[in-house]
Amino acid sequence: MRRGAWYGGLLLTLALVLTGWHTGRGVAAQAPTEEQSGRAVTFSVIGDIMCHDKQLASAWNAKTGQHDFDRVFQTIKSRLSRADLTIANLETTLPGKPALYAGYPQFGSPDSLAAAVKNAGVDVLTLANNHSVDKQALGIKRTISVTQKLGFRILGTYASVADYNQRRLLQVNVGGLRLILLNYTYGTNGLKVPKGMVVNMIEARRIRSDIALARKAGPDAIMVLFHFGTEYQRHSSAYQQKWVNYAIEEGADIVMGGHPHVLQPFGVRRSRDKYGYMKERLITWSLGNFVSNQQRRYTDGGMIFNFSLRRNPDASSPQKLLFSNISYEPVWVYVDKRTANHQFHILPVNDYIKNKMPLTLDRSGLAKMQLFYKDTTAHLQPSMLSVAAWQ
Ligand SMILES: [Zn+2]
Repeated sequence: MRRGAWYGGLLLTLALVLTGWHTGRGVAAQAPTEEQSGRAVTFSVIGDIMCHDKQLASAWNAKTGQHDFDRVFQTIKSRLSRADLTIANLETTLPGKPALYAGYPQFGSPDSLAAAVKNAGVDVLTLANNHSVDKQALGIKRTISVTQKLGFRILGTYASVADYNQRRLLQVNVGGLRLILLNYTYGTNGLKVPKGMVVNMIEARRIRSDIALARKAGPDAIMVLFHFGTEYQRHSSAYQQKWVNYAIEEGADIVMGGHPHVLQPFGVRRSRDKYGYMKERLITWSLGNFVSNQQRRYTDGGMIFNFSLRRNPDASSPQKLLFSNISYEPVWVYVDKRTANHQFHILPVNDYIKNKMPLTLDRSGLAKMQLFYKDTTAHLQPSMLSVAAWQ
């Protein structure tokens, strides 16, 4: 096996060998032992958490006088709690005043939405997206303070210059690995960022200086999370490619994307950064809608993107961490119109298809879920084949 090639995925490699589909890489016998590289640390990254008007209405509980979103996540909780670190994009604000709760176009949601996301097992929230400023200064401030109080690690928006200086790099220690996370958005829907506050925008100078600062801190890997792309486009745009290339040239190891409301392919790329390091980089372009009331084809679901990282036993390699177990699980949003409140559920489609769940779908729901599964599997098959070749 050549230096720096991809280890792991033992079962998959064996399966490929047994089926005569051997890529010449990833020979299982050469994979590092746990003693050599420590255990693999598992990551799940999910897409955009939206909250449209119908979700607000559905979550309203007249008896308690509160919005309750826990049921939405009940069916997906065990999947999200599984990884060592789970990351999501919160694409709304938490203004705290019921009069400001709203869906499209300027989102404001009850704090209980974020509480339900936390209960479901999400650890990190990216907050820089085109809806960060929807409820102006109050929205930015409260979204930060409420999510912090709930115990999330957050990044992308900052309530003051002092807050920015303190949290500019999000350092996450997980399973003995040290990662630095950075988050940027293409824009804020034409709304001005209130004076003294910071929403991280996609700008060359900012990204360059942040990654340079991150490198100085000497993490095991740098992950950049972009909110970008063209809505409803199922493949990456020239804009996305430009900024992913830029982040990698500057030294990012992992680049995750969101915003287009549909899934786009993912993959691993071996490329050189401006420091001369040739390394494998992991890229997703768009993780789709994790939950929303967008019910049209391709927009009615998303994915849990999974991967593992472990320390490279070859300390001389610029590739400090090795990727393995790169995979995705499709998730689909079911709106149960048979219930009085039109209950939303996020379904792990693989489990549902295997009949592992008690929830029943109505006939049109089942057909829509099957179509989403078929579309997603076909669309992402080239990505799965390409990462299988690496693993
Ligand atoms: Zn967006």
